[in-house]
Amino acid sequence: MGTKPQKFSGGVHPHEHKLTAAQAIENMPAPARAIFPVSQHIGAPARPVVAIGDHVLRGQVIAEACGFVSVPIHSSISGEVVAIGDFPHLLGRPIMAIVVENDGKDEEVEYTPANPATLTPDQIKKRITAGGLVGMGGATFPTHVKLSPPPEKPIDTVILNGAECEPFLTADHRTMLEMPDDLLAGMDIIMKALGVTRGLIGIENNKPDAIALLGKKAEKYPNIEVIGLHVQYPQGSEKHLIKSLTGREVPPGKLPMDVKVVVQNVTTAVMVYNAVTLGKPVMDRVITVSGFSIKNPKNVRARIGTPFYEVIDFCGGLKDDVSKVVAGGPMMGMAQFTLSVPVIKGTSGILGLPPQMVQDVAPRACVRCARCVDSCPMGLMPNELVDAVDAKDWEKAEQLGILSCIECGSCAYACLGKRPIVQVLKSGKAEVMKMRQKRDAEKKRLEEEAKK
Ligand code: SF4
Ligand code: SF4
Repeated sequence: MGTKPQKFSGGVHPHEHKLTAAQAIENMPAPARAIFPVSQHIGAPARPVVAIGDHVLRGQVIAEACGFVSVPIHSSISGEVVAIGDFPHLLGRPIMAIVVENDGKDEEVEYTPANPATLTPDQIKKRITAGGLVGMGGATFPTHVKLSPPPEKPIDTVILNGAECEPFLTADHRTMLEMPDDLLAGMDIIMKALGVTRGLIGIENNKPDAIALLGKKAEKYPNIEVIGLHVQYPQGSEKHLIKSLTGREVPPGKLPMDVKVVVQNVTTAVMVYNAVTLGKPVMDRVITVSGFSIKNPKNVRARIGTPFYEVIDFCGGLKDDVSKVVAGGPMMGMAQFTLSVPVIKGTSGILGLPPQMVQDVAPRACVRCARCVDSCPMGLMPNELVDAVDAKDWEKAEQLGILSCIECGSCAYACLGKRPIVQVLKSGKAEVMKMRQKRDAEKKRLEEEAKK
């Protein structure tokens, strides 16, 4: 175990509100109907391989990966496929999903266990790919892609992210406390897949029980070190975590692999253990259901595909003062417009928030207090970026570094005017990306013309 000075400039210290830190994970009943969007990950949506009327088993592939940056989707219940079509999705628009009606039997496919010690790195990655693994912290990037860096980018360190710096969320904390052996075995497998001999687990110092437990358990893994991190939001962002734990800076526009690091979430490591050792795909996940407008906040293990309303009902329902239901944490999560959306692989939290905890969505005048500038952990000037986006000046937004924005929400949290800065910057980033793509295409066209 160790500690390092890991303060970074910017960032904020929101009230932690970890209401469920001491609550053991409760298993939720399986839903009557499960909804499986084919897009639960970054990359190409999966392609359905079942039809209406088919009977499916728990653990069966119901949609296959479409290309390398994609993952398969597995049914989390047994039953009949009753619909394939567009259904509400956490992203705020309808997306194709496969709906399975539960037959109540929970019949499962036969899993094929394996001893990771006898597997090659390629065999490990194949099992991870087959398990449909994605970053379970919410990023949902396919795990096998992260574990397949190009040969010119060798990796020397694996980091497990146990920071869980978002207020309210305790799902990772409980996972570290309740599944430490699976987590460490999963990390060992990830290190083997990458041929790496240095593993670091970063955990914010507000979780001393997890630091102590994993530190003790890690004694049998000489290459894995557990490190307590300064409590500062967004300590769990990949770039800040890497800087805190290794001192390495990921340059703007570059990836962790450019500084020889791969970062995975602690819950993803448990899923790696399940997929590689037990042969089990992602079928459920731990979720923190919390916020001051949830009657009985809890950590629950819910089947993928369970509608939000069933999860919230399991936790006593919403209080009358609820203003917003958010998927994820209050800083980076997404407000939901219907509770019919399903739990997906990246759902780390479901929060019910009262009006006083909700950012204003109506545009407000900037009072030029510069608190957003002081709080930005990426050294950006959010107020000027908002001005550039409002003026549709995409070149200026690019020059001001909008693409370096990690959408952490520190600026919006600190803003005296309660301005919806992150929403504005998200839309601005999309426009700047479009501008860049057009510019690159035009440059390529001119180069090809010049060659003729
Ligand atoms: S500008 Fe982006 S990176 Fe900076 S504080 Fe705001 S959301 Fe975070
Ligand atoms: S924190 Fe808000 S009000 Fe203050 S300068 Fe930034 S955008 Fe303007």
